[in-house]
Amino acid sequence: MHEYMGELLSPYIDDELNGEERRLVEDHIKTCKQCQEEVEELRFLKAQMQSFYQGIDIPDISFEEAVIRKIQTIEQEQQEVFSWKFWAALAVGMCVIISVLLTLSPFLYACIRVLYTLFNVGARIAHAVMIIALDMPYLTGALIITTLILIIISGWSVSRLLGTKTTG
Ligand SMILES: [Zn+2]
Repeated sequence: MHEYMGELLSPYIDDELNGEERRLVEDHIKTCKQCQEEVEELRFLKAQMQSFYQGIDIPDISFEEAVIRKIQTIEQEQQEVFSWKFWAALAVGMCVIISVLLTLSPFLYACIRVLYTLFNVGARIAHAVMIIALDMPYLTGALIITTLILIIISGWSVSRLLGTKTTG
């Protein structure tokens, strides 16, 4: 009788027994402490299960719709962050770059001027050297002269660059 009851206890908890089976179980658990404890345990487990499933918040909307809404929320947040934080960072960055350029502008101007002068002088020298080289029969002589001129020009340019830096 006791082992037979064991199979009926779970359906009894779930209210799946017919009237006769139900009465049998009820009469049995009045006298059998072991089955009584098992019924209590099963009831406790069932309550736990129910509270667990009730604890899961099942929304009215479908899962797909929920995912789309979540993505839209994230996108919106990202756009908001992008809109003001990005532009603020960009503005600060631009201000820093402009102020640095303004601070360095005399120096940059001097550098550009020196480079331009060097290029200009170098082009003239090269032109002159070419004319001389074309006139001279000895190519080696022309190369030596060119090298000497370039060394002189380099020395002059360096001294001029240093002078520009110190004076202005
Ligand atoms: Zn029993």
